[in-house]
Formats: sequence, C-alpha cells, structure tokens
Amino acid sequence: MPDIAALIAALPVGMVLTDPDLLASYRQDRAQDPCAGTPLAVVRPRTTAEVQTTVRWCAANDVPIITRGAGTSLSGGATAVDGAITISTEKMRGITVEDATRTAVCAPGMLNAEVKAAAAAHGLWYPPDPSSFEICTIGGNAATNAGGLCCVKYGVTVDYVLGLEVVLADGRAIRVGGKQLKDTAGLPLTRLFVGSEGLLGIITEVTVRLLPPQAPASTVVGVFPTVREASEAVVAVTAQTRPAMLEFMDATSINAVEDVLAMGLDRTAGAMLIAQSDAPGPAGAAELALIEAAFRRGGATEVFATDDPDNGEAFTAARRVAIPAVERRGSLLLEDVGVPIPSLPDLVEGVEAIAAAHRVTIAVIAHAGDGNTHPLIVFDPDDPDEARRAALAFDEVMGLAVEMGGTITGEHGVGRLKKGWLTAQLGADVMAVTATIKAALDPQGLLNPGVLL
Ligand SMILES: Cc1cc2nc3c(=O)[nH]c(=O)nc-3n(C[C@H](O)[C@H](O)[C@H](O)COP(=O)(O)OP(=O)(O)OC[C@H]3O[C@@H](n4cnc5c(N)ncnc54)[C@H](O)[C@@H]3O)c2cc1C
Repeated sequence: MPDIAALIAALPVGMVLTDPDLLASYRQDRAQDPCAGTPLAVVRPRTTAEVQTTVRWCAANDVPIITRGAGTSLSGGATAVDGAITISTEKMRGITVEDATRTAVCAPGMLNAEVKAAAAAHGLWYPPDPSSFEICTIGGNAATNAGGLCCVKYGVTVDYVLGLEVVLADGRAIRVGGKQLKDTAGLPLTRLFVGSEGLLGIITEVTVRLLPPQAPASTVVGVFPTVREASEAVVAVTAQTRPAMLEFMDATSINAVEDVLAMGLDRTAGAMLIAQSDAPGPAGAAELALIEAAFRRGGATEVFATDDPDNGEAFTAARRVAIPAVERRGSLLLEDVGVPIPSLPDLVEGVEAIAAAHRVTIAVIAHAGDGNTHPLIVFDPDDPDEARRAALAFDEVMGLAVEMGGTITGEHGVGRLKKGWLTAQLGADVMAVTATIKAALDPQGLLNPGVLL
C-alpha cells in the first residue's frame, strides 16, 4: 500500500481528499460506467507545481492517475479506477485575454462558458460550443478535442488551441506551441496532445486563439416526415454551403424535448433540422434562401425562418437540452458515430433498422452538418433482457459506422466505453503506432489506464 501520508504532507492542507463520502462523488463521470472504481485519493491542485508533485509521487509509487475536468465525459474517460489517484483540475482557475494577439491563456479548470464570457468581455469570441459548454472545462475540451454546434463552420477545439502546458508522466512540465499563429518548429506536439484523452500528459494550461464576435445569426427550422428526407436535405445544403449551424433531431428526441420545454415543437414530425446563417448582409440572405429552398425541395412539410436572435436561441436551446431530456426516459447508451456527409441518410436509416431489430428506443440527434450523430439508446437498467438488447444495438451502431467508412466517435472520445471497437476502425498497425507513442511518453502506463488502449 503506498504511503499516501507523504503525498498529503507534500501538498497544502486540504488538497488531498481521502474521506470515502467525498471520494464517492469522484467515481463516475456522465457515462455512468458500471465498472467505475474508487480512487485511493482525489487531489485538487491549484498550480502546475502541485500537479507535478502529485505525478512524481504517483510515479515513485507506481500509482495510476485519472485526470478529471468536470466529469461530463460521455465515454467514461474520467471514470475512477480502484487504487488510483484522481487529479481534479476544478481548482485550477484563471484566464488572461490578450487583445493584441487575440488569444486567451486559460487554466484547465475554467469552464468553456467562462472562456467564452472572458473573451466576450474583450469584444472577442471563443467559438467551440459543446452542448455541455456551461458545465465542462477547457482542459477537458482540449483533452477530448470537443466539438459542438457551430463547429460545422468554425471548426473544433484543435482548430483554436495554439499552445499547451502539459505535465508528463514523469513529472516534467513542457510547453508546446504558444501565442504565435504559425509555428512549424519541431513535431506538431500541440496537435498530438489535443484529443489524447489524458493518456499522454495532464494539460495544465491552454492557450486558445479568439475571433471577432460572431455576427447575429438567422435561423431556419424545417420539419420533415422522415429521417431520410431530413438527412438528404442536410446533404443538399452542405454540398452548396457551410452554415453556422445545422442540427438534426428525430421524432423521439423532439418529443422528449417537448415534454421538458413545452415550446410547441411538432410532435408528429419524423425529424427536424435547425440551421443558422451568420453571413452578413446579402450573403446571409442568399444563404438563408438556399437553405430554405433545400429544405422545401427535400420534402419539408413546414419551414420557418427568423432573424430574431431570441427565437433562434430557443431552437438552439431545444437541441442542447436533448440529451438530458431523453435521459428522463431511462438509462442511456450514448453513441457518437460519424460518417462522410453523403452517407448520413443511410446511417440514420440504418440506426432506425437496428432499433427495430432489437426492439429498443434509439433517439437520434446530430451535429448533422458535419455528419456526427448521437444515437441515444434508451433502456431500463432493471430489465436485463432490454439491457442486453441495448448493448447489442450499441455494438451494431458502431459496426455500421465503421462499415460505412465513418468513425465510432466524432467528438466525445473513445474513453473506456468505446475502446472495444477502436481496432475495427483504425486497424492493427495504427493501434500499434498509438501504443508506441503511449509507451514512449508514459512507460509505466500510469496515465488514464483503461482509456482508449
Ligand atoms: C449534456 C451533455 C452534452 C454534451 N455535448 C457535447 C458536445 O456537443 N460536443 C462535445 O464534444 N462533447 C459534448 N459532451 C461531452 C463532454 O462535455 C465533453 O467531452 C467535454 O469536453 C468534457 O469536458 P470535462 O471537463 O467534463 O472533462 P472530463 O469529463 O472530466 O474528462 C474527459 C476526458 O478528458 C481527460 N481530461 C480532462 N481534463 C484533462 C486535463 N486537464 N488534462 C488531460 N486530460 C484531461 C479525462 O481524463 C477524460 O479522459 C456533452 C456532455 C453532456 C453531459
């Protein structure tokens, strides 16, 4: 048993939690992995030096480390492991926005919403907007390469990360990248760490680039009889333009959201698309007209367009609330599969067929404009037969995406819950290269054991 007293003594009073009741609240992330363990202790450092002290103690005692941001992972990446130290970045706070470079240097525990707010206070904008933006951290976003609603036009987290400070598995802290917009010195390590799911190091600082504020967006909502017609309309739109948002909700998710918000969504619709254009002036009007026409040609029974930001925000909020709304109907197995956009209609129809074959409810929401869908498989955990059928459906949905040349995860990461399907997508050679990189940076295998590999 490692001497935890030495770690407690090396850090400020109260920084290491060992009370079983407190440890219990760090066992799970949002994925609710039934195999979650209990940490030996939870460390809540404030500084990079305190992270280094913790990592060095872990390395010396061969104790694994789980890095945790806000624990909103939907793939079990921050789930605790028995006997490991969980390093929570929640107390690593602070942000500096620099107007001259249009950058922000963020401590990893800052929430995405706080980064956005700090940028906005300087008349700037941090675009990546996961639906969880009010509750997830920028460190977690960098570690998972988080996407979101506006990413179809503005790109995902990696497109904004200019530099990182990372504590390696042996306790060294390195800096990669910086505030410079272009940088080809050395291997592109910043991009290696973004999306590495805590396997290669602990991110202790994130430098992001900021944009001028987004222009006010106009919104078009289309209601379709079937998921195929809606997704074919997505293909038609994206072949011609790149809207600022293009989201999809099927009948089950529309009804689940309507149960919560009672905002008058059409409960009889087969699917709904929500698109936005933030192009200025005549270009915006033309883009809006193009989207409306594509929706109508695609078979929309109703098309509604608005310039009113509050009306538009109401639909965006409806889409954002979809996961918690569907969660009210039972436990969820949450997929994150993506395909090249022309394959989207076949994917969503394939998911419908899988749901029917296994007699389970699968609600589908999607960041449709970038081909990234979230089939949400609903099941009753107290019904073993339904739980078994849900697991089979989970498996088949990922198999379908891989078969179609797509991905098992577009933005949530592999974590613990999807790693069984990773080799099928990447192949043995890529897995071997991945394992080689991991072994080079973390030869003891201390960081996030059980994730990805
Ligand atoms: C309702 C809901 C909606 C969501 N919508 C979206 C969405 O639209 N798009 C999207 O991309 N995601 C979405 N997510 C998933 C989740 O919010 C993101 O994956 C987010 O980036 C995780 O951030 P976190 O701070 O909660 O990280 P955690 O859940 O704590 O950790 C996630 C992973 O990152 C690692 N990690 C965390 N911090 C660090 C660090 N500082 N250094 C190294 N590794 C670290 C962890 O070990 C883990 O592997 C949603 C989640 C919920 C609950």
